[in-house]
Amino acid sequence: MNIIMLGAQGTGKGTVAGIISEKTGIPQISTGDIFRKNISEKTPLGIEADKYISKGNLVPDEITIPMVEDRLTWEDAQAGVILDGFPRNIAQAEKLDEILKAKGKKIDLVINLVTPKEEIIDRMLTRRVCTNQECKTTYNIKLHPPKKEGICDKCGAPLKQREDDSDPEAIKRRLEIYEEKTSPLVEYYKNKGVLRTETVSITVNRMGQDVANDVIKDIKGAQ
Ligand code: ADP
Ligand code: ZN
Repeated sequence: MNIIMLGAQGTGKGTVAGIISEKTGIPQISTGDIFRKNISEKTPLGIEADKYISKGNLVPDEITIPMVEDRLTWEDAQAGVILDGFPRNIAQAEKLDEILKAKGKKIDLVINLVTPKEEIIDRMLTRRVCTNQECKTTYNIKLHPPKKEGICDKCGAPLKQREDDSDPEAIKRRLEIYEEKTSPLVEYYKNKGVLRTETVSITVNRMGQDVANDVIKDIKGAQ
């Protein structure tokens, strides 16, 4: 089963994808995580990508699309994937359809997470990530803090704030780009009949965990 996580920054795509992946065994492919790993290892890809990411801009398609295309050839991706952070514009979505079609596959489900804007900015500012690249668990110091401050519950590594999350200009820029480039994908996938929109908000007492549990139930029920 091929799943896409859609939704603005801070809606909880990574959290939802992580839970679904853990419970179903479908691997999570996060382009942001791949970029951050390359940045921390100072690979040529990382050095190039960081020029865009640090400013809150999208990494160009010429870099991002081949990276995802390659990841989709891995053995663990053959039975299905959860794409988290890709596609981010129509060109990427069209290319993804092409890549999957050539393998006789398609996108089966797009989970579109929606959160009120004020809540989004707050969530981005209070987000912390595990510095262990093999773990990368995300926390929120207000909504779901780690048991011990600054330390990952799962692996004990220190937590940190992402650089692009600590810069209000970069946050603003990312949300603008989401509106302009990524939000048209909602219509794109609605037209394909695979869109599932879910509100994630404290105002309705529905969090990423709840969405993930419902989706897992449906996936398992359909099998
Ligand atoms: P967020 O959703 O909070 O922006 P991500 O971890 O998904 O965070 O991505 C971090 C950054 O990596 C993005 O701001 C962007 O610069 C880059 N990036 C991630 N995915 C893509 C993509 N599909 N296309 C272009 N750039 C991307
Ligand atoms: Zn960890």
